[in-house]
Amino acid sequence: MIITLQQLEEDYMLCHCENQQGFAVDILNLGGIVQNITLPNGKEMVLGYDTPQEYLNHCYYFGATIGPFANRISNANYSLHGVNYPLEKNQGEHCLHSGSTGLHQKIFDVKIEGDCLLLHTTLPHLEGGFSGNRNIELRYHVDEENLFTIEYRGSSDKDTIFNLTNHSYFHLGGGYGDCLSHTMEIASQQFTLNNGESVPTGEILPVENTPLDFRVAKEIGADISSPLEIMTQCGGYDHNFILDNQQEFQKVAIATCGDVSMTLFSDCPCMQFYTGNFIDTHIGKKRSVYHKRSGFCLETGDFPNGINTPTFPSNITKAGDIWQYKTGFQFSWKDE
Ligand code: BGC
Repeated sequence: MIITLQQLEEDYMLCHCENQQGFAVDILNLGGIVQNITLPNGKEMVLGYDTPQEYLNHCYYFGATIGPFANRISNANYSLHGVNYPLEKNQGEHCLHSGSTGLHQKIFDVKIEGDCLLLHTTLPHLEGGFSGNRNIELRYHVDEENLFTIEYRGSSDKDTIFNLTNHSYFHLGGGYGDCLSHTMEIASQQFTLNNGESVPTGEILPVENTPLDFRVAKEIGADISSPLEIMTQCGGYDHNFILDNQQEFQKVAIATCGDVSMTLFSDCPCMQFYTGNFIDTHIGKKRSVYHKRSGFCLETGDFPNGINTPTFPSNITKAGDIWQYKTGFQFSWKDE
């Protein structure tokens, strides 16, 4: 893999990772944003914008790293060892994707280490309300099998909570239209039920006999308009699946559109499958028009809101321990 760094305006930097076949991934030092995943035939796999500034102007987290804690934290508050940590309420009463000081808008330090691109930043104690002086490390790699991997590491000098993910929106047809005709397979038997505010109730339910059953590949659009409350309350798919992977780096999902497939590998226990239900119509990169359901996200991570949900693992990372997961996106296509 060849990595090249390009200085953009202000403090922004574009990191280009390309394998010998010409499969390439572009990453910004802003938010560790995956700006482009490009097949050798020029097809674009992810939604995005042309400039770093546009990423800051929009609220969809296109391609961005989410953290220190992805998904919701109910009532924007958690308590640890008897101390309350109030967070920013940016979605009703709740904190979504860590609020306005989250990793999605941080400028990371960039380093090339061997054949990996390394992004690093620190978060001071109580930034965004979260405990601990923290170190965040993201390691990106592209191999000759067209597998793009992201390794996440978080550590802290005080007990804290971590849940890092990447919020890329995929459209494997080249970034146009909606994602409903993609087929999707997800290796998951169970999901976590949400209330009407997309906060987990703590119940874990089987996917069987629900629109969330993707154990056998089906079109994303097949059951998305189901009148069941679990679907209507979030306008499509916006659900956390508990993965079958036993926290081993394994195949957890396969998405296909025409001749292009993406296989997702991860050792994370969970994955939020989100179908871009809340994207408003607007212009993205290379004059693409994006709208509701233009792309889908596969946000691997830990149990959402575990710190406030007694039936879930707690999300706590002890001072000095390392929160660590790895997710890979492998692409295959037929040459035209
Ligand atoms: C959430 C959606 C939210 C979106 C923001 C997803 O991870 O689950 O509910 O609207 O992020 O772009």
